[in-house]
Amino acid sequence: MGSPTVLLVLLIFATMYCIICLDVVNPWLGGYQTAQGCFHLLTFTLLMSMALISYALTVTRDPGPVPAYDGLGSQPNDGLGDAECGDVDAGVKAKTTAVHVEVKRKGNGTAPRFCSKCLAYKPPRTHHCRQCRRCVLKMDHHCVWVANCVGHGNQKAFFLFLFYTTLSLVYALYLLISFGIDMLHQQAETKTSSFQSHRAPLPSIARPCFAGALLLPLSMGVGSLFAWHTRLVATNQTTIETYEGVRVRKTLASGETASASHSRVYDVGLWANVTSILGDNPPLWFVPWVGGPIGPGSAAGDGVRFPTRLDL
Ligand SMILES: [Zn+2]
Ligand SMILES: [Zn+2]
Repeated sequence: MGSPTVLLVLLIFATMYCIICLDVVNPWLGGYQTAQGCFHLLTFTLLMSMALISYALTVTRDPGPVPAYDGLGSQPNDGLGDAECGDVDAGVKAKTTAVHVEVKRKGNGTAPRFCSKCLAYKPPRTHHCRQCRRCVLKMDHHCVWVANCVGHGNQKAFFLFLFYTTLSLVYALYLLISFGIDMLHQQAETKTSSFQSHRAPLPSIARPCFAGALLLPLSMGVGSLFAWHTRLVATNQTTIETYEGVRVRKTLASGETASASHSRVYDVGLWANVTSILGDNPPLWFVPWVGGPIGPGSAAGDGVRFPTRLDL
């Protein structure tokens, strides 16, 4: 949590929250003294709180520890016994018992992937992060703004961080623009009024203007990232896979192998894709600390085995 970028994000959050509450809603709508002010303050506080909780989970959760594996010469997934999958949902386990091996895209294209830095087998969708100096299960990318990798363990938290931050920023922009329009009207009325001395002074707009200048690029940047990750969740891809593509091989019961090569090898349908990341229970999709890849009610499995198009 002591990373400079994490502190900068927290500072931006705190600045935004203080300006919107103290310099916009309080002087404009009377804060908690009026129903309208109370509604806006509570809604904005709720959105910001959910964004912050999602952010804290993304920063602090392990993005995907690779389980220990012995015997590099044998089938990689054979080495994982039931004990290591004990907390995996039974339905998902049944779907993923077939042995899938992600293979190298270069060279002869048949060897299972191996990390030369960790000196260990790389399960499907796992990648080595140079910043973290380790392999990460279902690695999406290393994010400097969370000072952590985004992977199997914190993908849901990261996605909800983008979701709630986008909502918070758009809501803050809506309040700022409404406030600005109201101030302009009041200013015009003051100029034409013959009772200027009896009117309350207009609130200062210096800090709200600063907030607006910060909010506009921020909301566009975070909003675009949220749209991108919504597409990734819907198609069950990671950022790395969209650029590199994936090549998987499956051993059939007959002993023969089937293979597929595509950037969307793990795309097994919209519902299965979404529930594998956000959880099986739709009302809990929006709760960052419940379900998700690792945790109670997990539907995504152990991060080592994933259903593929070869299973459809
Ligand atoms: Zn590695
Ligand atoms: Zn990393």
